[in-house]
Amino acid sequence: MKILVPVKRVIDYNVKVRVRSDGTGVDLSNVKMSMNPFDEIAVEEAVRMKENGTATEVVAVSCGVTACQETLRTALAMGADRAILVSTDTELQPLGVAKLLQAICAREQPQLVLCGKQAIDDDANQTGQMLAALQGWPQATFASKIVVEGGEVCVTREVDGGLETLAFTLPGVVSTDLRLNEPRYATLPNIMKAKKKPLDVVPASELGVDLAPRLSTLKVVEPPARSAGIRVADVAELVARLRNEAKVI
Ligand code: AMP
Repeated sequence: MKILVPVKRVIDYNVKVRVRSDGTGVDLSNVKMSMNPFDEIAVEEAVRMKENGTATEVVAVSCGVTACQETLRTALAMGADRAILVSTDTELQPLGVAKLLQAICAREQPQLVLCGKQAIDDDANQTGQMLAALQGWPQATFASKIVVEGGEVCVTREVDGGLETLAFTLPGVVSTDLRLNEPRYATLPNIMKAKKKPLDVVPASELGVDLAPRLSTLKVVEPPARSAGIRVADVAELVARLRNEAKVI
């Protein structure tokens, strides 16, 4: 089974995001970028499947600017066999990425696409679902456990109040949730080895895909600052304030 793992380069989750002063978006200058955390989980799961003999090859793919190669090198250092950069300087939205991934699926013929459930920058939670629709493939989102056996995938999902288990026949798309696994750190020897693994660059323009944005960002604002709390003398004052000022009781 060949697994394709789409990995996105996003602002590192430890960075405090700053909104650009003109409100058009988030300031990306001099900001640490890393692999989307849910995609690290997807790479880890795919590599484990390779290690236990379920998968034969793990191919990481990233769509975006040249710097996405760093993200792909991380995937290679974690154990992916090879990587593909679909290079473009155009701003990508989930539908555009899904179409690029569809074109890569046509070339690579993976049996499983294992992506993150959402990118922590746009929080879209759309790309995997759109790819499944474009491919006409089954999908199971938010996986907390994945078992592949004889061409069938069983996916456990954490839903409100319990666990749901779905099964589908490959090929298909699965997206990863937080509790699926704990991704390994890329060790120094593996980072060195990753430099020699194949990384193909495919210009997005070669794939004949319409990347025109369908959404426009109107405004991005910081969350309102929390106002200071106050200390009340007793329960009577608390109740009075909740009733008369906050008007919540
Ligand atoms: P989103 O729909 O933007 O929340 O992203 C969901 C998942 O789609 C991510 O976790 C990635 O696995 C994949 N993805 C989104 N954008 C890209 C991209 N530019 N390159 C590769 N994979 C992506």
